[in-house]
Formats: sequence, structure tokens, C-alpha cells
Amino acid sequence: MSDNNYNPFENAQIQFDGVAELLGLDPGMREFLRQPMLETHFTIPIKMDDGTTKTFKGFRIRHNDARGPAKGGIRFHPHETDDTVRALSMWMTWKCATVDIPLGGGKGGIICEPQSLSKGEMERLCRGYVRGVWNQIGHEIDIPAPDVGSNAQCMLWMMDEYETITAGRYPGVITGKPVGMGGSLGRTEATGYGCIYVLKDLLRCINLPIESTTASVQGFGNVAEYAARMYTELGGKVIAVSCWNQADKTAYTFKKADGCDIPALVEIKDQYGSIDKEKAIALGYEVLPGDAWLSQNVDILMPCALENQITPAVFPNVSKQVKIIIEGANGPTTPDCDPLIRERGIIMLPDFLANAGGVTCSYFEQVQCNMNYFWGKEEVLEKLEYAMTKAFRAVYELALEKDVYMRDAAYIIAINRVANAVRLRGWA
Ligand code: NAD
Repeated sequence: MSDNNYNPFENAQIQFDGVAELLGLDPGMREFLRQPMLETHFTIPIKMDDGTTKTFKGFRIRHNDARGPAKGGIRFHPHETDDTVRALSMWMTWKCATVDIPLGGGKGGIICEPQSLSKGEMERLCRGYVRGVWNQIGHEIDIPAPDVGSNAQCMLWMMDEYETITAGRYPGVITGKPVGMGGSLGRTEATGYGCIYVLKDLLRCINLPIESTTASVQGFGNVAEYAARMYTELGGKVIAVSCWNQADKTAYTFKKADGCDIPALVEIKDQYGSIDKEKAIALGYEVLPGDAWLSQNVDILMPCALENQITPAVFPNVSKQVKIIIEGANGPTTPDCDPLIRERGIIMLPDFLANAGGVTCSYFEQVQCNMNYFWGKEEVLEKLEYAMTKAFRAVYELALEKDVYMRDAAYIIAINRVANAVRLRGWA
């Protein structure tokens, strides 16, 4: 479970404050950049299938749009909070700036348990969300996308509701749509593949052949699945995968010491990224507690599920063999754990670099929608690899040059770019 003692927005601010100090940003700029520019909190009343009305709480938060329209997913989660959305919107600003795409940071959320909603209830919730924020979003203002608990179908309902309200066709209003309905080829794979493009280049830089490495993954949703697929296709071995089990309301780790068969595990997972326990046992997997993924003797940890998973309390369980942590999820490491990771000499590929493949491909989707002309998958993935590798190289080289932790190097690049845009616009 996510460690509820950590407030993700406070984490995001602590990380920002440290780098602002390092960069010597003036107090006015710091004050502006450490909080969102705009917040919308609203209620969404939904007629449930049983005839009752249930009221859900929705958020859309824009952290900063100095470099371009805001961009960020909508998370459907029972533990969603305004502070989680604030933090995620801030990280989106840094993420877009790190990969140097002309977008700012935003994020949305709905407090709900998507697994317990019928298809009809889900559609009404998606449409209700758009009715709450339609005048705050738009392809030139703020562009939502899927996140945990939401998917391409949700995005299409949302686009349709937006187009119904505004009486036009604006496929660029929202990304992560189904292919053929304004979606981009490669978007499904983009975040997970993006993690591995970055990892591949890092391994090249440190002369570690990917075929000699092993990994343990937390999550088996969109990000984790495609990261694990590409990593194993390139020759790496995934030893363990941890995911949530909705029926038991707990997480399990599925382990196979001689390497997990990722396509076979995909066959026995549901649309929410939960692996069927009985079927996994039948395939020869050992079923361990949810947090066991963290203590495996592997070279690489891939936290690709939730925030606040690697904390000082659990860090002693991390094997001494671990050389690299690649943050596929947003905010999986708490700031107070970063010094411990650095002390151990573990290389950290920070979230807003490692998982920026998703937003980069979303940007490609938006560009294609605005042109109404779509690229082939190879072209998308080639552009994605170029963007991710370029961003990684800039961060890696700055980290070496200044002898700083890679998260700090990425922050330095991103915050400098955003502060510069704010200055050039004359806002601060
Ligand atoms: P998803 O909903 O597809 O998958 C989430 C996975 O996490 C599921 O397999 C679920 O079983 C697992 N999980 C949930 N609670 C768990 C627990 N306590 N222990 C172990 N596993 C648990 O979500 P996703 O799209 O893969 O996103 C995962 C993370 O990556 C999130 O932090 C998200 O913000 C971030 N992210 C996603 C994208 C994207 O394009 N999807 C882009 C950037 C960042």
C-alpha cells in the first residue's frame, strides 16, 4: 500500500525547494513555481445503475503553463486527494520541460473505485467530469489524458462530451484515445518503452550488458507491462512482479527465479493490471507478499505502480545487489529516501525523466490530431526513442559534470527551462 504518512505535494515542494536553493532562484519565482496556478474542485452527481444518485469528487489542477498548454492525466482512484493531484501536476511541469516538449503541467482526478463501476456508470462519470471542467480544458489550454484507473475508452467518452458541449471536432482536446479515433499508434507502449529506452542508454553508458541483468517490477498495468516486455525482449530477466489483487484487497508478488514469462502473465491479468493468483500458481509462480518485489536479489528495481513505495522504513530491505532504480511510476521514492539511495551508490533514473515517454507520445498524438494526419508506429517509436535518449543524455551528462544525483540534474534542467519561460513572459 501507499505509505499514507507521506504527502506527495509536500514531497514535490521539498524537491523543488532544494533545487531552487541550488539554482539561487529569487523568492518571487520560488513562491510562484512551488504552487499550482489554477485549481478546479467540483462534484459529479451520477445516476447509478440501481437508481440511486452518488456524488463523486473531481479535480483539475494546472501547475504551470508558461512553456505551453498544460498536459496531464486523470486518475481514477479511491485514495485520490487534492494534494496528490497538485503534486502530479507539478511533476508534469518538470517532466514536459525535462524532455523539452512545448507543454506545461496539469493533472486531474476523480475519487472513485473504477473496478466497482459498471460500464454505464463509468461513461456517466467520464462525461460528468468533462461537464465540470470543459471550459478549463482545450487543445490550446490544458489537455487531459489517461492515468491510473482510466483508459482509452474513458478518453473517447470525454472527448465526445467536450465536442457535444462545444459543438465542434477537437480531437486534440484529450490524448490517449483509441487508435482510429484520434489516438496515436505507440501510445499504449510509450511510457513503458520510454523507461527502457532510457535504461538501455544508461546501461550503454556504464558498460553493463542488458542480457546480464535481472529486475523486479512493482505493478503490472500499462507502464509495467510494456517496460517488462521490452526489457525482456532485449534480453533482461524479470524475476518478480508485484500487483494488486482486487478480490483479496491486497497486493501479491509473483516470483519465478528463472525469469517471468511476461506475455504469458499478460494473458492472465485483467484490464486493471491484476494477475490471476490461481492461474499464476498453475504456471509455476511462487506467490509472495505484495512488498516482496522490493527485497529481491536483482540489479534493477522498477517501481511502476504507485507513489511512496520506497521509503527509509523499507529501504533496508532493498538488496545490496541493486544497482539501478528506474521510476516508472510517479513519485515512488520519498525525498527522505533519496540520500540513502545515493549513499549506497544506486543509480536513480527519476520519474519525470524515466516515465516521460507517455507524455512525449501524447504530445505526438496531439500534433497528429491537430494536423489530422497520423504517423506509422515505427515513426512514432523512432521519434520517441530520439526524444527520450536526448533527454537522458542531457541529464546524465549534467549529473556527471556537477557530481549531482540524477534527480537533481533533471530538476536543474527542468526548473531552469520553466523559470526562463516565466521570466521571458514577464510573469516574475
Ligand atoms: P495501471 O492502472 O495500468 O496499473 C497500475 C498497476 O499497479 C496495476 O498492475 C496494479 O495492480 C498495481 N498496483 C496497485 N496497487 C498496488 C500495490 N499496492 N502493490 C503492487 N502493485 C499495485 O497504471 P499505469 O498507467 O501503469 O500507471 C502506473 C504509474 O505510472 C502511476 O504512478 C502513473 O501515474 C504513472 N505513469 C503512467 C503513465 C501512463 O502512460 N500510463 C505515464 C507516466 C506515469
